[in-house]
Amino acid sequence: MPRQEAIKQLKEQLVRRHEALQRAVDGDLSLLRELHQEKTGDVLDAAADSVQDELNSQLVEVESRELTAIDDALERIAEGTYGDCVTCGKPIPLTRLRAIPYAEECINCRRAAEEKMNPSGVVKWNRVFDNNSEVDSV
Ligand SMILES: [Zn+2]
Repeated sequence: MPRQEAIKQLKEQLVRRHEALQRAVDGDLSLLRELHQEKTGDVLDAAADSVQDELNSQLVEVESRELTAIDDALERIAEGTYGDCVTCGKPIPLTRLRAIPYAEECINCRRAAEEKMNPSGVVKWNRVFDNNSEVDSV
């Protein structure tokens, strides 16, 4: 699939995710629940319940951060810079973008930044933005 085509699909994902998160932050969980069900299929009845649990007040802040990250990603799509690492300017591999559609750095820059922030190598901060990075071997 051409990269441009893949980015178009990622944009659709981002738009839908953005809408669901926005509504969840506003107190309407139905759309996020729908997305969640799409992902898990109809196998797990418990999944819908877990979404409810997931969306406790402590996570609203996390969701707001994700919303901001998605906003930024959509902005970069509009500008035509989406998919390029904001630090080194190299294209971010599609495997990484598929795992984290709002990733703004390639894995190398991300790791370098993490090491800089935390030279001891102990991960202390919330990994919500990059919790799929281990699937990205590039
Ligand atoms: Zn980079």
